[in-house]
Amino acid sequence: MDYDRFFQQQIENLHREGRYRVFADIERHAGDFPRATRRKDGAASEVTVWCSNDYLGMGQHPEVLRAMHGAIDRCGAGAGGTRNIAGTNHFHVLLERELCDLHGKEASLVCTSGYVANLAALSTLASKLPGCIVFSDALNHASMIEGIRQSRAEKRIFRHNDADHLERLLAEADPDRPKLIAFESVYSMDGDIAPIARFCDLAERYGALTYLDEVHAVGLYGPRGGGVAERDGVAGRIDVIEGTLAKAFGCVGGYIAASTAIVDFVRSYASAFIFTTALPPAVAAAAIESIRHLKTSDAERQRQRETVAKVRRKLTERGIRHMDNSSHIVPVPVGDPAICKQISDLLLDDYGIYVQPINFPTVPRGTERLRITPSPLHSDADIEHLAASLSAVWNRLALKPAA
Ligand SMILES: *Cc1c(COP(=O)(O)O)cnc(C)c1O
Repeated sequence: MDYDRFFQQQIENLHREGRYRVFADIERHAGDFPRATRRKDGAASEVTVWCSNDYLGMGQHPEVLRAMHGAIDRCGAGAGGTRNIAGTNHFHVLLERELCDLHGKEASLVCTSGYVANLAALSTLASKLPGCIVFSDALNHASMIEGIRQSRAEKRIFRHNDADHLERLLAEADPDRPKLIAFESVYSMDGDIAPIARFCDLAERYGALTYLDEVHAVGLYGPRGGGVAERDGVAGRIDVIEGTLAKAFGCVGGYIAASTAIVDFVRSYASAFIFTTALPPAVAAAAIESIRHLKTSDAERQRQRETVAKVRRKLTERGIRHMDNSSHIVPVPVGDPAICKQISDLLLDDYGIYVQPINFPTVPRGTERLRITPSPLHSDADIEHLAASLSAVWNRLALKPAA
């Protein structure tokens, strides 16, 4: 077989569909977010980042950086081992305590990333519970789907955020079999939010465990940044809360928070947790500081809500259609992968605005979009420039304004 030719053809398919991925080469400026230097073809330019998941700019927060520098000086660069073999640093222990407190759970477990946390927890829970049936929201993240797939457990997919459909599927299932309902709070591509309390009611009625991915909500919702479950007063009814340290907390790493029994079980049986090196202690130290800061400071969240509202208003004024939702995510539908990429390229090359095109398989085909994430650090001038630039690009490409 001509292996190279096979790989090249697969890549050509992506080009033909207009969804070949090009990474923007950016260097973020600590102390000056959301500004970054972008390099392309040997030339450098200054851009404003409008699509970062470092939602609150905690990745440049002085207290977070100080904690990170301090831990590097004390502990060095790497953890030195897996959690079981020489890699559990005291900062990991402190971080897990901090996460228990954040979510009001008995125990927590830190993994390499949110992706790995979902993979490790879901694959282990669903494979070891005898005869488990997993009820999975239709729009769940790839990492949850992969965890469920690896468990080889039976899976029933319920329509996105549809409690009635979920109830029908639960009612049809054998009442004696263990059940796990897996869903997210804030869905990152549409920015809509799950009816968590209704799902908890169903879980209690049908004897199911609840598994909630709060990756796009931790740090952002609830009075202490504990997520939408905290905001809605239902965190105590969720069996497993999964989160990330990489988005609003501005670092890297993922975790679950749950009962002692569940966490100890995942810790002891999950391959994706056991057989990999622990996070660098400095990352754990930085994450602790970020979580602590957002537990007591609401200023970043408030200011973010203001910029989100301003962005929505300015886009509406300019006739740029955006999906309505009650979260901090502002999706601008485009519906075609090539046009989506073209808009993004023009914004980056001619207007100094970086918004990555979101194409299949991140979103279903035909729903390609720009995904704008306003932060507390975007100024009024940034917002005005964004809206004016989008409007100019819409005119240049003769795209239809809002209906
Ligand atoms: C980003 C994301 C993850 C993975 O988190 P990482 O820490 O980036 O690996 C998990 N779930 C959802 C819904 C996500 O969007």
